[in-house]
Amino acid sequence: MKIQIDQQLLNREIDTLAGFSDAEAPAVTRVVFSEQDRKARAWLKERFAEAGLAVREDAVGNTFARWEGAKPDLPAVATGSHVDAIPHAGKYDGVVGVLGGLEAIRALERTGFRPKRSIELIVFTSEEPTRFGLGCLGSRLMSGTLAPEAAAALRDDEEQTLDTVRQRAGFKGSLDSVRIAPGSYSAFVELHIEQGPILEEEKIPLGLVTHIAAPASFRITIEGEGGHAGGRLMPGRRDALCAAAEIILAVERGALGTGAIDTVGTVGICQVHPGAVNSIPSRVQISVDVRDTDAARRDKVQAEIEAAIEEIGRRRGVVARVEIINSDPPAESSPEILAALTAACETEGIGYRRMVSRAYHDSSFMSQIAPIAMLFIPCRGGVSHRPDEYSSPEEIGRGVKVLARTLAALAGGAQQV
Ligand SMILES: [Zn+2]
Repeated sequence: MKIQIDQQLLNREIDTLAGFSDAEAPAVTRVVFSEQDRKARAWLKERFAEAGLAVREDAVGNTFARWEGAKPDLPAVATGSHVDAIPHAGKYDGVVGVLGGLEAIRALERTGFRPKRSIELIVFTSEEPTRFGLGCLGSRLMSGTLAPEAAAALRDDEEQTLDTVRQRAGFKGSLDSVRIAPGSYSAFVELHIEQGPILEEEKIPLGLVTHIAAPASFRITIEGEGGHAGGRLMPGRRDALCAAAEIILAVERGALGTGAIDTVGTVGICQVHPGAVNSIPSRVQISVDVRDTDAARRDKVQAEIEAAIEEIGRRRGVVARVEIINSDPPAESSPEILAALTAACETEGIGYRRMVSRAYHDSSFMSQIAPIAMLFIPCRGGVSHRPDEYSSPEEIGRGVKVLARTLAALAGGAQQV
């Protein structure tokens, strides 16, 4: 089967989609459920219908464009990504996976291929946390990682709830209905720009993502005892900042202690109360971010940090309270999908390497209900979430070609005579 990608058409479509924006070109701002987001969705649905795909939407606006297979009762093979864009972003993040996924399907249609399993293109709602403070809303709800009641109550800057905003955008029905059963998809493959410099630096056209690292973050509040920096002598002090300093070093020690390059631990916020030169800190709040590609290893580091907090608190006579903000699952790619991607690269004669995604994606959550993998294409300078984000038509074309061949292999099927 010879697969040909219409790079010009795809590039024109990427440009047209970038025009649905609240920022002036080349910047793209497209916040979920804004007027521009709604216009972009309408335009996309026309493209999907044009390609002969059956379109449906769920209650949170996740959009599914389906190419019915010869065996429609079998779990479908899915691809897709997101089209929302943070303020002053570029035109490729997410979009390459949606319009590239569409072009992959059209390219297969042009060859006369008829899939056995259905192939679905998914556009996930609000991958970016811009409006409601939590990313991957659509895929979190689909996978059951986020409870519908918790999602409904999320608020934007204007204090409007997600529930109100999505209904006003035309997405009715209960949020309970968004969750889908594990096993609904036999595979999910997401094409995405790398958002890092490795592929460009190594001059390798494609990255096959084996793992997606997942962040856990928590907030620690330490209560000690304040007092005059001169009057209160050193013995018996309960200095909250000294305790925080030890905790921060425990985070570093925990991350380094695994000996794995993929474990990272960071304290990026430290607020000291009352914050005066001559006053002993009585209360300190710090944030901790721990990421790893291995769930068990990350959880072990988290447990070590928590044990250290307890020990430090006891020894120093301070009270440390830990609040978990999020603890997302890392994802591991399916060996079968990686094998299909590898075979597709080899058939097409396109170079590739295996790599880890340090950012999370909708695939992170889809991994809870389906075997997943991701395919990365290079982006200039590793730049993303900026107006100068760029991938060439050729780079995108190579990714789409390998995606098309992979979808065909995973769906099974035959060339029509
Ligand atoms: Zn993205």
